Amino acid sequence: MRQLHPIPHGDNDSGTDLAARLRPQFAQPVILVDPDDPVIGGPQCLVPVCDRLAVIFGKCSAHHQRWIEAGRPDDVETWAKSAPANRRWLHQPRKCAITTCHRSRREHGLCHSHASRWQKQGRAGLTQWIADGGGGPPLPAGDGCRFPDCCLEAEGEAGLCDHHRNRWIRADRPPIESWLLGCATFGQDRFDLRALPLKMRLEIAYAIQCRVDERRTITRPHSIRRLLRALPGGGVPSLLDRSPDSWMAYLGFSSERGYIERRFLLDAIGYLRDLVDGVGWDAEFPRDVWLLRRLGFPGRDTRFRFTGIEPIWLRQLTKRWARWRLSTGIAVATVGADIRAITLFAQSFPALQRGPEALTRELVEVHLAHLIERFPNPKSRTGQLSSLAGLLRAARQHGWESRLSAQVDLFPEDYPRLVKGPPRALSEAVMAQLEHPCVLARFADSRGRLLARILMSTGLRVGDGARLRLDCVVRDGQGAPYLRYTNHKMRRDAFVPIDTDLAEAIAVQQQAVLDEFDDPAVLLPRPTRNPDGKVAFSTATFRGELREWLRVSDVRDELGRAVHVAPHQWRHTFGTRLINNEVPQETVRRLLDHDSHAMTSHYARLSDTTIREQWERARKVNIAGEALATDTGPLADAVWMKNNLSRAKMALPNGYCSLPLQQKCEFANACLTCPVFVTTPEFLPQHRHQLEQTQDLIAQADRNGHQRLAEMNRTVEKNLLAIIDGLTTSDGCCGGGKSCACNGKSGSNAC
Ligand code: SF4
Ligand SMILES: [Zn+2]
Ligand SMILES: [Zn+2]
Ligand SMILES: [Zn+2]
Ligand SMILES: [Zn+2]
Repeated sequence: MRQLHPIPHGDNDSGTDLAARLRPQFAQPVILVDPDDPVIGGPQCLVPVCDRLAVIFGKCSAHHQRWIEAGRPDDVETWAKSAPANRRWLHQPRKCAITTCHRSRREHGLCHSHASRWQKQGRAGLTQWIADGGGGPPLPAGDGCRFPDCCLEAEGEAGLCDHHRNRWIRADRPPIESWLLGCATFGQDRFDLRALPLKMRLEIAYAIQCRVDERRTITRPHSIRRLLRALPGGGVPSLLDRSPDSWMAYLGFSSERGYIERRFLLDAIGYLRDLVDGVGWDAEFPRDVWLLRRLGFPGRDTRFRFTGIEPIWLRQLTKRWARWRLSTGIAVATVGADIRAITLFAQSFPALQRGPEALTRELVEVHLAHLIERFPNPKSRTGQLSSLAGLLRAARQHGWESRLSAQVDLFPEDYPRLVKGPPRALSEAVMAQLEHPCVLARFADSRGRLLARILMSTGLRVGDGARLRLDCVVRDGQGAPYLRYTNHKMRRDAFVPIDTDLAEAIAVQQQAVLDEFDDPAVLLPRPTRNPDGKVAFSTATFRGELREWLRVSDVRDELGRAVHVAPHQWRHTFGTRLINNEVPQETVRRLLDHDSHAMTSHYARLSDTTIREQWERARKVNIAGEALATDTGPLADAVWMKNNLSRAKMALPNGYCSLPLQQKCEFANACLTCPVFVTTPEFLPQHRHQLEQTQDLIAQADRNGHQRLAEMNRTVEKNLLAIIDGLTTSDGCCGGGKSCACNGKSGSNAC
């Protein structure tokens, strides 16, 4: 949020204050554009000798015009190489032919003074006259011409050489400083504010500076040039002297016509109003319409209106509740819906104006009856009721309103019974189509396509997926990939195992983002208003793309009907698939990063935690009997989930497979010779048993002369011996942890 202090909106004051807020670059009547600035700058004209911004087909407007005049040559690049620069305007005027004279040439190759001397001396042979030094002593030296980069001497009061003085006179003798500035910056990309009233000049400069600081909306000079020309005609000294509506009516802008200029003007007025009114909670809370941007929330015009809540006590209560909810991180949209629900309640009962005492159980019951008529859909009705219940609960909890009767509340019986809809998971028939590479390839936007894949294979919430950070893939000690994301609902970071294909697709996207932006922050940057790549893809855009993708790829269900998919259904699908694969309930809960609320999962959690603890404490070895480092921190949780998942998919009798998720194993019974096999002391009995069996097999094979079979089993025997050795010889303890007879104490001889 911008740190601003309110300034009084006096005619003199605000002008001076604005001037003090402007950085030198913007405190100019003509603001020059730094082409490297991501907001006001941009790519440069194709013509190598031109330093202007490209505004049309890769060219500046002047070179575009020249290209048209040249008959629109197809090979633009070649044409561009020979195209001249635009700034002929600043070419040096030619000087007087007399070597010692530094005045501008006017007639016969001579300056005005030398020309008249020549005439007076009878117009002798000019060449000789010049060679002889101009018929007399050199003219007295004068000051340099004030015109930028002009090397000639000034003549006359304007301080300009004769050439530039003539040009100034032809321009109707404008104020000289302003004219010089215009000439100096002519042919450069600039915001020319000279025609604006002084105060408005500062206001526009301030708006441009705010846009640059926000680094969101690209604001190039050509896109607001028309606006800057039209503003002085408004006949007022300040943007704040007319209402936004009155400006739009005068300028003829609408959301269809002049959109960019309209948005700039509205933003400019907004920046100024923020200055005048102040921002932050202290300034905004007392108001009855809150501008969310002033409270540091995104969105340029999002507002909360409390004006519909007539009873002052209820309005105050609602504001306090809304502030509290926002500060606990509840989404703006949710709080907005709450406020609308309370507004509806307040408007239904004018009697509430009498005070909190007027809020009775009877009133609540009448409200219930009204709601049935107004919201036949039980879900919307539940929303209305929960908002009211939430307000009452918070008011009681925090003692905000002592006059509220203790009896007034909403009870579980007050809520409509929700009709259970059909299962929200998608059928495997639909999923098979959606996951098919050819169908995925039809997803037009590569960002949306990747997000769809991520959602399908991890069950993330769409908001969490859209906001993934650029460095969202981490690997465990065995190199298996995990997706790191922020669970915005629970406000914490979480990990979910992913397969290697998805990890590769993410790596491709990471590279694309790094190529596009200097210092990007997110994996899926939104394509517009995002010059730095710091703003994430919007879920609304994704939903639109998803609809379009389903339409073009013609995905149908088992009955041949076109399929509608809401991203959240993938979360249900993911959970259902796991349950169907007999993944323990607790692992599913953690993969989805739910907070457990079902009592039934309690037992599952206990047993899972116990096993998990053993896994953490246990010594883990590979087939060579070498101890493996344990992943620590939050990632350890994800590693455990992944191994649990793999165990559900492929239960090994003697250990764990640390293969990355969903990578297929073709040698499921060759684990004892496989490099990714991991085992723990809990499997020692199995290993000892298998060792006996293997040794028997070897003896048998030797007896029967089966060389190869004996050889293979010797490798297994060797690995088993290494495993048993590795599992039993550390720290004087077998590693069995609490379940071991030594009770986890190393050095005791109980193992
Ligand atoms: S052979 Fe290796 S990859 Fe296959 S299941 Fe066994 S441990 Fe996993
Ligand atoms: Zn150009
Ligand atoms: Zn001269
Ligand atoms: Zn000059
Ligand atoms: Zn022990």
